[in-house]
Amino acid sequence: MNKTILLNKRPYGKPTLDDFKTVSEEVPTAKEGEVLLKTVYVSVDPYLRGRMNDAKSYIPPFELNKPIQSGIIAEVVDSNLPDFKKGEFVSGMLEWKEFQTSKGKGLNKVDPTVAKLSSYLGILGMTGLTAYLGLMEIGKPTQGETLVVSGAAGAVGTVVGQIGKLVGCNVVGITGDDEKVALLTSTFGFDHAINYKTTPDLKKAIKEACSEGVDIYFDNVGGEISDAVLANINKFARLPVCGAISLYNETEVPMGPRLQPILLTKSATMRGFIIGDFAEKFPSAIQQLASWLKDGKLQFSETIVEGFDNIPQAFLDLFEGKNKGKMIVKV
Ligand code: NDP
Repeated sequence: MNKTILLNKRPYGKPTLDDFKTVSEEVPTAKEGEVLLKTVYVSVDPYLRGRMNDAKSYIPPFELNKPIQSGIIAEVVDSNLPDFKKGEFVSGMLEWKEFQTSKGKGLNKVDPTVAKLSSYLGILGMTGLTAYLGLMEIGKPTQGETLVVSGAAGAVGTVVGQIGKLVGCNVVGITGDDEKVALLTSTFGFDHAINYKTTPDLKKAIKEACSEGVDIYFDNVGGEISDAVLANINKFARLPVCGAISLYNETEVPMGPRLQPILLTKSATMRGFIIGDFAEKFPSAIQQLASWLKDGKLQFSETIVEGFDNIPQAFLDLFEGKNKGKMIVKV
């Protein structure tokens, strides 16, 4: 049988396992003009939370009682399409199903001999692109500047910090766990890392870690952590707003400091982005990331959870910070 995970109900606040439902259906067969795909790796991502709300956004919401979709690496197990051969691997926005058919639209071949298959969901996939393009296009880092990254030990954050170091920045990461603090300053080469959960005065800790002030703030989390960083920005600071995970489960948006006076007096640029905004730059960005990876200039970390049934729990665990680097489920 073919297990499928559906959106059972729309989460209110923090999602729970009850919001998902697993059903079994027949394994489909590939018709003329189709391939049959077997799911190998599933990406779980914080942005999926937004798609679970019945709200207009840059991407349509998931429908109730329909399969959830995310980035998936799958093996072609049967093919009636000339471009795809049995045994090849593809990545695409696919459904949380063990097996599914596709007409090939939106599928990209991935080569397991070039890089680990799972890396096409992380450093050589959406999160790597987000880190590279968000930082370079909006953050515009230059040598000697100070870059602060929140959500620093996650899929996007670990890559942002390392690219900051490659450009010659002083890099400070903010994360919620002492083990992650150690990982950031050892494996990922950050100059300094701060545990936001155990630091009583975050604004002061950032000031101490950034003796020259903050030139670039790559924001993955929003909320109070970002308020503390914003209090330390320099004139002409750039602030790529990549994510706001600390606010995704809020049922009412909490009031924070008014930002206009800070942005005004610091002549700062705060810009939100969705990675698709930079789609035309994906090929060159992937080339750069792959080259740094090959040369050993970029490291990546993955938290791999085993088992199709554990996809919803792995997603929930993102909000508990259980991942180091990219959270992926191996089916
Ligand atoms: P991560 O791998 O960073 O995983 C999420 C991490 O967020 C957790 O490990 C946890 O780390 C941290 N976190 C969870 N809850 C909170 C909280 N309340 N306050 C502060 N930190 C919290 O995810 P990604 O790297 O995939 O994504 C990072 C951000 O970038 C997300 O906000 C995501 O939505 C966004 N994003 C945006 C894209 C775009 O196109 N703009 C594309 C991809 C991602 P810790 O232990 O440190 O708390």
